[in-house]
Amino acid sequence: MRDDNCIFCKIVNGDIPSKMLYEDGEFKVILDLGPATKGHALILPKNHYRNLYELPDDMASKVMLLAKKMAFQMTDKLECDGFNLVQNNGEAAGQTVFHFHLHLIPRYNGDGQTLGWKELELTADELEEIKKIITE
Ligand code: AMP
Ligand code: ZN
Repeated sequence: MRDDNCIFCKIVNGDIPSKMLYEDGEFKVILDLGPATKGHALILPKNHYRNLYELPDDMASKVMLLAKKMAFQMTDKLECDGFNLVQNNGEAAGQTVFHFHLHLIPRYNGDGQTLGWKELELTADELEEIKKIITE
């Protein structure tokens, strides 16, 4: 499964160079070209899935296991102080490359990055209404 116009498919196939940290039959892990911090990397399934909604269940399980393994290795080698996993789906969520990927972002005390959000002020009724929409 491959999309000829997809930059991550080209990386997976070796048509575009990358700094590869790990490879197995189903995944590549590469350094991000525009890193948020030292060591920022991306887990790429070798198959082309646009986003989380297209990712098969078995791949979703495997990607989290690989993220855990990489987080341990990177924390040990880079001596980072924390770690973010980030995964964007859709333009509204900041996705710019439409081939599923999971960001591995080592964090360092005082690194100056902010991956936060502005908090909404919701009433208890509004929270209840949202809960109903999602669960009913
Ligand atoms: P997202 O906004 O979640 O879709 O993230 C896309 C990420 O891909 C960004 O962090 C980019 O810096 C990264 N990126 C784009 N092109 C390349 C490339 N050729 N090699 C490595 N990382 C890339
Ligand atoms: Zn692709």
